Amino acid sequence: MPGVDTRTHAGTRLLLGTSLLAACAAGPERASLAETAAPTRSASTVAASPLARAIDAHIDAGKERLVGWRRHFHEHPELGNREFETAKFVAARLTEMGLEPRTGVARTGVVAVIEGGRPGRVVALRADMDALPVKEEVDLPFASKATGTFEGKTVPVMHACGHDAHTAMLLSAAEALVAVRAELPGQVVLLFQPAEESVPIEEQPAGAELMVREGVLDDLQVDAIFGLHVFAGVETGRIALKPGPLLAAADRFEIVVKGRQTHGSKPWAGVDPIMVASEIVGALQTIVSRTQDIVKEPVVVTVGQFESGVRNNIIPDTARLVGTIRTFDDAMRADVHARVEQLAQGIAASHGATATVRIEQGYPVTSNDAGLAAAMRPTLERVAPGRVFDATKITGAEDFSFYARKVPGLFVLLGITPAVQLKTADSNHSPRFYLDEAALPVGAKALANLAADWLAANPR
Ligand SMILES: [Zn+2]
Ligand SMILES: [Zn+2]
Repeated sequence: MPGVDTRTHAGTRLLLGTSLLAACAAGPERASLAETAAPTRSASTVAASPLARAIDAHIDAGKERLVGWRRHFHEHPELGNREFETAKFVAARLTEMGLEPRTGVARTGVVAVIEGGRPGRVVALRADMDALPVKEEVDLPFASKATGTFEGKTVPVMHACGHDAHTAMLLSAAEALVAVRAELPGQVVLLFQPAEESVPIEEQPAGAELMVREGVLDDLQVDAIFGLHVFAGVETGRIALKPGPLLAAADRFEIVVKGRQTHGSKPWAGVDPIMVASEIVGALQTIVSRTQDIVKEPVVVTVGQFESGVRNNIIPDTARLVGTIRTFDDAMRADVHARVEQLAQGIAASHGATATVRIEQGYPVTSNDAGLAAAMRPTLERVAPGRVFDATKITGAEDFSFYARKVPGLFVLLGITPAVQLKTADSNHSPRFYLDEAALPVGAKALANLAADWLAANPR
């Protein structure tokens, strides 16, 4: 779209404009996920292959190590693009496993390849390593006391989104896959990516987008990719999946209405930008309610900031609105963007004001490959018998989308809340975000088995 700011401001702006819940999967949506999701009755038990049994046995045997790694990451969280120690730790563990990790990928990412003993295709597993500027309030012996720098300020840092668990689970999966590598038909690419949550504007693009731009999928000829996200409010060890769009595209918009300043007692002598902007706020909701096929896909338009004026008796010159747009379809996304601009400018013009609209594209929609979701469901059912259920759409966003746009991808959700805490659990990104470590082996098995089963089912 002409005049629209491009990708360079994506992640950071999302966070600034719409609170820290904006940029990743977890958030207030968990309630709907937990409430509407019904367990799938899986009549057929999928028999585990000798390879799957070996993988699971290795992960079970390494459970303590897995928990230890997660606690280490939890106690030493680092913000996006600053995962220096995390990356070193990851690389050291991979080296101990006999792998040859490449570091400095997309700044602080780590990539390693497990070469199977038999020929085959290439599957990737992804974990994110970054933490958030959140002050931990959970009473744990390994609670974070770390600080970092975010946009020039010293901030507390916490793994409040569970990326510590993602990283530890992928290490555990790697260990098991290395142990059975002789039997693996193909290669498993391990992607430990930085900066899923946010980085300063000048560091954009980052995270998955930069990993893809740097060519990790192309260079290693990745055929398919899997990832998972831990999710508070869903019972420990349950796995949710969904074909098609799972997580929204999240785009930031900013509208600056310019009127003409005047005395508050004489509105007729100026153009009131507060009144014009108010009309725009209300009218923006008609984009959702009157122009989008919400039976096809949901749309959210939210104004999160409304700034104007300094004094009771001055009608100011300008008003500024900042908000977020969530969509699940590329065409609807483009249409909503165009309508936001058209509507704001039209309303402003009708009052003799002007509106400047800037839309910054954030993460695109995270869409699961339908064939992959169907094909891999039995694997997940085997890993979590009777505990796999259908996920609903989530209006949060995830940069896993950048991989899934390049190659067929499947992103699943893993419950991490003990049953007794389901009603009271604090969401991801909360300072009270709590992760039940009993979920860790389930997640590690899910990752490792998704890779192994996919390779076995898709020979070259
Ligand atoms: Zn997050
Ligand atoms: Zn996250």
